[in-house]
Amino acid sequence: MLPFVLEKPQSTEDAIAAAASGARYIAGGTTLVDLMREEVERPERLVDINKLPLGGIRVEGEDLVIGALARMAMVAADPNVQRLQPLIAESLIEGASPQLRNMASMGGNLLQRVRCPYFRMLDAGCNKRTPGSGCAAIEGLNAGHAILGTSDHCIATHPSDVAVALVALDATMRVRGPKGERSFPVEELFRLPGDTPHLEHTLLPGELIMEIRVPGGSYGSRARYLKVRDRASYEFALVSAAVALSIEGGVIRQARLAVGGVGTRPWRLRNCETALVGKRPQRQAFEDAAQLSTQGARPLHHNQFKVELLPRTIVRALEMAGEVA
Ligand SMILES: Cc1cc2nc3c(=O)[nH]c(=O)nc-3n(C[C@H](O)[C@H](O)[C@H](O)COP(=O)(O)OP(=O)(O)OC[C@H]3O[C@@H](n4cnc5c(N)ncnc54)[C@H](O)[C@@H]3O)c2cc1C
Ligand code: SF4
Repeated sequence: MLPFVLEKPQSTEDAIAAAASGARYIAGGTTLVDLMREEVERPERLVDINKLPLGGIRVEGEDLVIGALARMAMVAADPNVQRLQPLIAESLIEGASPQLRNMASMGGNLLQRVRCPYFRMLDAGCNKRTPGSGCAAIEGLNAGHAILGTSDHCIATHPSDVAVALVALDATMRVRGPKGERSFPVEELFRLPGDTPHLEHTLLPGELIMEIRVPGGSYGSRARYLKVRDRASYEFALVSAAVALSIEGGVIRQARLAVGGVGTRPWRLRNCETALVGKRPQRQAFEDAAQLSTQGARPLHHNQFKVELLPRTIVRALEMAGEVA
């Protein structure tokens, strides 16, 4: 690991000023320190934000508001999260390990870096790590890579589980930077790789994620997160699906659907949602909607299986959500 300076500001303003002048925020450190050890990330200055008052979880009207420094484990165990947004609790429990979830923050989770193995191999071409050096994954081992939203420059998936649930639920985030505060949908945090895969998010220099707001929904407990992976725990998704259904009079009135493990960012499937509305929650309707999920997919040599696994995962997740009383 290369030497660095660690700053410990006592106020949000001081933290933002430090970041605006080139320092990097650090929360749980479970992504950043890992990558610094491997010298993939080489920040010269870090700003420890753990003393800032951003760890709370509260209910405002029907909305759930989660501080950026709330730990994954704390959010998953929170009674209000479990009552109002069980989909979020479920997606968090499916991620990482108990030890990591105790350390890892919600803000850091959204901004975690990709798990593409070539990103961590300093002698491999990787446009995300070293712009212009190529993408070793396109001709290499790409079973875990994306089939949606890819470009000729990068095919890495976004690895977060809870981001998929947040995007499905139309969550927004509040950020503060040198020029003040703004709020926007969590979905808009994530960039497509295009020809600049090293630019992963839409935060401006120095902007700090303050909190995440999840609006109340009429789907109640009919919301499930299904994660398909190579082993049952401590593994990233091959395909995952976050679904939420509002069913009245035996008919789907509203549907929310986003998927992970297949897109270069958490992938909302509005075409599938539209296809579900007005239908009875039955397998045929689920299959018809799920078939739309692979529109525009660009599979490669090793990840072709995701074209079949994606609709199957969606159908199973919809069945699970439909079964909930
Ligand atoms: C072995 C392993 C397995 C894992 N498995 C999973 C999994 O299955 N599913 C899953 O979703 N995740 C998984 N993770 C990822 C884990 O959830 C993330 O590492 C963690 O959530 C990052 O949070 P952190 O607080 O440690 O972030 P840090 O490492 O502290 O920071 C990560 C990034 O976010 C930035 N940042 C942090 N907080 C803020 C903020 N408030 N505002 C602006 N920028 C900020 C930092 O500057 C840094 O760039 C795994 C990680 C490991 C190591
Ligand atoms: S897929 Fe993206 S992260 Fe992986 S090697 Fe290619 S450019 Fe790098």
